[in-house]
Amino acid sequence: MRIVTFEDRNGRRVGVLDGEEVADVTAVDRELPAEMVDLVELGSSGLERLRTALASAPRLGSGSLQILAPIPRPRKNVMAVGRNYRDHAKEFSESGFDASEKQMIPDHPVIFTKAPTSVIGPGVAINTANDPLGTTDYEGELAFVIGTPAKAVPPERAMDHVYGYTIVNDVTARDLQKRHVQWFIGKSPDTFCPMGPCITTIDELPDIGASWMRTWVNGELRQEAPISALIFDVPTLIATLSAVMTLEPGDVVATGTGLGVGIGFDPPRYLQPGDRVEVAIDGIGRLSNPVI
Ligand code: MG
Repeated sequence: MRIVTFEDRNGRRVGVLDGEEVADVTAVDRELPAEMVDLVELGSSGLERLRTALASAPRLGSGSLQILAPIPRPRKNVMAVGRNYRDHAKEFSESGFDASEKQMIPDHPVIFTKAPTSVIGPGVAINTANDPLGTTDYEGELAFVIGTPAKAVPPERAMDHVYGYTIVNDVTARDLQKRHVQWFIGKSPDTFCPMGPCITTIDELPDIGASWMRTWVNGELRQEAPISALIFDVPTLIATLSAVMTLEPGDVVATGTGLGVGIGFDPPRYLQPGDRVEVAIDGIGRLSNPVI
């Protein structure tokens, strides 16, 4: 299932994508939680209820509602991985924008976070006014959502803890990222974490490595990478994180971006007001955001 959070005149709630329409599952099962994280916490029983409700749920046309980020306000920072594709690691290294870099290809995952207040949904504008230095860049990424608490989970059992996948555009203020050494401030301006359009449950994407991630700016293809090219794959990332901290239902981890970000060009091609950025991943959908 492709589960969304949406809003219409009856309020905000979860739904299930059915083609272009949204199945209003909470209309037929009043006990289904309205909030995605509460649904995720129900695990397989919540999914079972969704499936049952899906059969008779009224379908809502996309014109009457707004799709939001699947988790509009994560309970903790969105975790993310730097330099997790070889060719992107190379372009990033050559750009000189990683002030903390010790080697081009990391031996261990480079983990940073983005503030929950940076999250926006599909169609919401990325606001470059929040980047005072005017170096706003895009990074199309696969993200995974944790389904059950994970602590000290080995890679071979890691996927048991994944609820599903979504798309994150890890929008970055490059000069802030470089100036402050720690990436947090450059990754966290308001509107700099577009997420969505849905969470595709793990059962629908058993081989995520076979999916491709693509990013367009104003219709021009800028990034195209197979998920299989990740240096540190999803099980490795879960094992790494859960070795030291408890991952919780609703935690979002963006896995890193591929070749073709704006700073990879000479001169850099940063986002400008009036642009539109789209990120698509097979089996999840397309995340499209204007830039103001
Ligand atoms: Mg990134």
